[in-house]
Amino acid sequence: MDFHCHLDLYPDARKVYVEASDRVEFVWLVTTSPRAFAATSKVLPASERIFISPGLHPEVADKKFGELEMLLSQMELYSGVGEVGLDGSSRYKQHFELQKNIFQSVLQHSVTLGGRVLSIHSRSSAKEVLGLLEAHSGFGVAVLHWFTDSPSQLSRAKEMGCWFSVGPAMLASANGRRLAGQMPRDRVVPESDGPFAKVRGASVMPWEAATVAVKLAEIWGIQRKESELLLRANGLRLSRYLASSDGIHVSGG
Ligand SMILES: [Zn+2]
Repeated sequence: MDFHCHLDLYPDARKVYVEASDRVEFVWLVTTSPRAFAATSKVLPASERIFISPGLHPEVADKKFGELEMLLSQMELYSGVGEVGLDGSSRYKQHFELQKNIFQSVLQHSVTLGGRVLSIHSRSSAKEVLGLLEAHSGFGVAVLHWFTDSPSQLSRAKEMGCWFSVGPAMLASANGRRLAGQMPRDRVVPESDGPFAKVRGASVMPWEAATVAVKLAEIWGIQRKESELLLRANGLRLSRYLASSDGIHVSGG
């Protein structure tokens, strides 16, 4: 399973889509803008195995702000939203207030709709992301993707009931492995974050997300079989939330 993939952005997306449909039990295809979501849904249709969600990536907040209303109306029809969130890194922080406006609107609307499952970007902004989640109780379920913040923000997120999607690129770094070691094992799912995430220069493919079971087994000090079973059970639980259409009511969100 792969819970965070920009499948539409691989150079040969159609081919990757066909292969992923064949090899991967469940792929969450996150999009970066409401228009991209509409276009992608036409060429790479959602299926039992491929879940596509509308999103508005914080890195393009300044360019796509005008599509916010479109996102809010798309959200009415889908239980998942992503990619959304904040990016406080030097390259994007000049639009941080705008990013916050967008993310707040998404959270507020999730509350109104009875809860949504969100795939969240939190680079250099975990403190603000968690603060906004806290301020919008009833927003649903947060899946923090490629979490790279401090151990203290991680334990805060853990206490708040957040999920984490973890990919091969994250586990290639010592800091990523250290953080993964502290994640709640019953709320971790695999992701590829392809084609952006790369390992040894090559984009991670959706069917490679599952390889995190090997590294997580080492990090958690358990058998590989056990980590595979854990990740699959978590993935089934999360995909069930995504499949539900009448709001997401989960404790801890
Ligand atoms: Zn992403």
